[in-house]
Amino acid sequence: MDFRLTHEQLDIKRAAREFAEKEFTPELMEECDREEKYPFEIVKKARDLGFSTIKIPEEYGGIGLTLLEEALVTEEFYRVSPGIGNACLSSTFGTELLILFGNNDQKGRYLKWITERHAISAMATTEPEAGSDVANVKTKIIKEGDEWVINGTKTLITNGSICDFALVLGRTYEEEKRHHGLTFAIVESKMKGFKATKIRNKLGLRASDTAEISLKDVRVPNENILGEAGKGFYYLMEFFNHTRPRVAAQAVGIAQGAFDIAMKYVKERKQFGKPIAAFQHTQFKIAELATRIQAARLLAYQAAWQCSIGETKPELSSMAKWFAGETAVYVSDWAVQMHGGYGYIGEYPVERFYRDAKLMELYEGTKEIQKLVIAKRLIGKI
Ligand SMILES: Cc1cc2nc3c(=O)[nH]c(=O)nc-3n(C[C@H](O)[C@H](O)[C@H](O)COP(=O)(O)OP(=O)(O)OC[C@H]3O[C@@H](n4cnc5c(N)ncnc54)[C@H](O)[C@@H]3O)c2cc1C
Repeated sequence: MDFRLTHEQLDIKRAAREFAEKEFTPELMEECDREEKYPFEIVKKARDLGFSTIKIPEEYGGIGLTLLEEALVTEEFYRVSPGIGNACLSSTFGTELLILFGNNDQKGRYLKWITERHAISAMATTEPEAGSDVANVKTKIIKEGDEWVINGTKTLITNGSICDFALVLGRTYEEEKRHHGLTFAIVESKMKGFKATKIRNKLGLRASDTAEISLKDVRVPNENILGEAGKGFYYLMEFFNHTRPRVAAQAVGIAQGAFDIAMKYVKERKQFGKPIAAFQHTQFKIAELATRIQAARLLAYQAAWQCSIGETKPELSSMAKWFAGETAVYVSDWAVQMHGGYGYIGEYPVERFYRDAKLMELYEGTKEIQKLVIAKRLIGKI
């Protein structure tokens, strides 16, 4: 692919940068992190400007652009504040499932709820006993007449306690092959039997909401079953192909944000009579970090572009997510190192980037799971 971004894409990236730099104030970042506060007001502003609905088709009130444009916005938001960036851009988490597999009625109801009435969405697959091994979900989604009854527990769910609706994965059919028989249902949080409990004391991304969801005899109508019952696992795998490049873009933003802070610091901080940027070890490290970030960025853009032309490559999405995630952790670690002891103190923003970065290697499939996907695609059946 040709990696030159179009004028329109560059304008979008610039607009996202300007918005984040203006709205994500140091005070707000600090407050949201310290108090684990969800920044509803900024989330609404970002929504009104179309940043978080960028991929929702125009006919449903979104901007109608592609994953590549979304990745550019993501990178800029996370560069300034991973926590607030996550709150803003993940406020529509899970909508890819609706865009890819929803029927017109579901898109009309739920995507328009997001674009016209600021609904917050969630996507709930993880359970206490089913994380990486998602096919092991124990939640039941069982048909009873014209309704489906849902029972189970979901955990570590982004937006769990503030969402208006969630796409919930559960088992409908007991099959020999575990991957068959799973179904996605659209569950509204106001439905009887839906209960969410916020999870506190996260290491990072503390402006973002994470919760456990209990589903007890929740009843949804037929119209709330996504696509075909029993195909949920396969829908989820395609969903990840489309969302892992976005996590890669999150990680690139974090790496760049931490790098920028470190770069400023090494030019200002003096030891042995000169700025620490004058030491060759610092210079070599700066060169190495910048190169790693650029490599991760190109991989993230390529994976996003691949989706935007409708030719997803699972191995590419996983390569981007794994490599960029590891880059975010590596770069933020070195950014703290370059700050010496001050990097360990909460007053310095670099400490927050270090804590925020770790999630990039964990959610939407750990780095080990990404490597399994890549290897499986390359090696094939043995
Ligand atoms: C802040 C946050 C937000 C999240 N948001 C959501 C959300 O919105 N929706 C949602 O459904 N989930 C969400 N998750 C859950 C996340 O996707 C899972 O935590 C992740 O998939 C890992 O699952 P697990 O935590 O059960 O770890 P486990 O699967 O128990 O893994 C533990 C360790 O074992 C390794 N491992 C497991 N299997 C293998 C294997 N076959 N080979 C090699 N190593 C292996 C893993 O890589 C990991 O290092 C979120 C998590 C966090 C922390």
